Amino acid sequence: MNGFDPDRVAVAQANNFMAGRRLGGEGAGLDVLRPSDGRAYGKLDSASAAQVDAVVTDAYQAYRKSGWAATDPRGRMTVMRRWADLIDADAARLAPLEAVGSTRTIGEILAWDLSYTAETIRFFAEFADKAGGEVIATTPDKLGFTITEPYGVIAAIAPWNLPLVMAAWKIAPAIASGNSVVLKPSEMTPFSIVRVAELAIEAGLPRGVFNVVQGDGRSVGDPLCRHPLVSKVSFTGSTRTGIAIMNACAETGPKPVTLELGGKSPQIVFADAKDMGQAAAIVAKAITLNSGQVCVAGSRLLVQESVADEVVGRILAAFEAHRIGPTWGGDTTMGPIISEKQLGDIDAMVARAVVAGGEAVTGGRRAPSPQEGSYYLPTLLTGLPQDAEAVQGEIFGPVLTVQTFGDEEEAYALANDSRYGLAAGVHTGDLNRALRATRALEAGTVWVNRYGRSNDFMLPTGGFKQSGIGKDLGREAYMATMKSKAALIQL
Ligand code: NAD
Repeated sequence: MNGFDPDRVAVAQANNFMAGRRLGGEGAGLDVLRPSDGRAYGKLDSASAAQVDAVVTDAYQAYRKSGWAATDPRGRMTVMRRWADLIDADAARLAPLEAVGSTRTIGEILAWDLSYTAETIRFFAEFADKAGGEVIATTPDKLGFTITEPYGVIAAIAPWNLPLVMAAWKIAPAIASGNSVVLKPSEMTPFSIVRVAELAIEAGLPRGVFNVVQGDGRSVGDPLCRHPLVSKVSFTGSTRTGIAIMNACAETGPKPVTLELGGKSPQIVFADAKDMGQAAAIVAKAITLNSGQVCVAGSRLLVQESVADEVVGRILAAFEAHRIGPTWGGDTTMGPIISEKQLGDIDAMVARAVVAGGEAVTGGRRAPSPQEGSYYLPTLLTGLPQDAEAVQGEIFGPVLTVQTFGDEEEAYALANDSRYGLAAGVHTGDLNRALRATRALEAGTVWVNRYGRSNDFMLPTGGFKQSGIGKDLGREAYMATMKSKAALIQL
């Protein structure tokens, strides 16, 4: 994979997007840093409170008057497919824009993020004429049915860890069903989505249907959620912020929320796994992908005692093999941590784990690097009790805790002893055990003999317990962008 020169990536100014045009921000201007080398590469054009109000009001007008919601569903589908095609065709420009200030390597973005973003838009576009209300069984003298209607304006708030993919999960279903959307990307990865908004206009999306407001959570995210013309909020980010957003939506609505939150997902390796080498490779990848900055990062290894040494040995070898470097390096396999603050938080949590009696068998410190960026070594922590902070809390970095178990029951008890319930992985060669595990594990997604997403967009994703409410992807995510109205006709 070819790398690129970060200093040649032009970041356009005026990075809010309203009524089909870029708009300069009247709020505070903030430097945006490249985590790969710590240098500022663009200015965040924060929206003022008045601008947030203007964008939402315009989005509402577009919902009422642009004709998008009233366009025949196949017409909406055609525009969205064109939009997805334009994203694919713009890869040479979009990929460096996405990579330069994020933690995603150029290789990952070209191989997966961009095509997955485009495919998410196509997937939800196809729902436009396929999912709606239903006729209800009633007595012959009546006709009962439900009608689905868009909410109007949906606010979408996205994190920095997979900027375009996370945004697409929110935007695509909402626009396909006829809503207008106001998206607030993370203040740390604000730029690539504005280019995607321009491509939407080029594809024929009416002006005002898709909008972007820039800024931090307090000055822009919070007033966006509280705006009276916002009828629903779809959020991906930390559990703490999700709770704050739910409160804001309760106080100013109540209005519905979809919350995709944090995780502390277990990966269970049974001694009967068919291929221990493959299981260990999957476990290692699931905690080093995007340097562990993935909501579903498999951050707790639960391994059966008899195979623990073998599995841990193989994971250590996989950790060693990583080439840590800047996102623009063509041969980088592990990029940076998003910020110095995040790196400090990871390091402090690991240090506290060691004080509490744990051992960092490898890693446990900043990675040496020729760049001035924020890099952390893949880290393996052993010897921690189940109630240790590092076993219970989301670290959001390349840190894997290791615990052993004796039997199946103990494995599930340890796995489920968590306030989170986002995902879980199981490695076993026993089909009955695999099926038992999918029922026993308290997680929104259970992967068996693999870990991570496929192109099966119909599988919904979402968490149990403190990992969230509602789903992204799948039919459920599409239906959640609409309200359902009941009709009963006396014949
Ligand atoms: P974060 O909660 O700090 O920020 C997420 C977004 O919310 C940002 O755009 C931020 O500006 C905004 N925000 C912050 N405070 C706000 C407020 N009071 N009102 C409105 N908006 C506000 O999360 P992050 O650090 O950007 O992302 C990492 C977290 O996201 C991790 O916990 C990770 O597990 C989670 N995540 C979950 C999923 C999932 O699908 N469950 C996917 C990706 C990331």
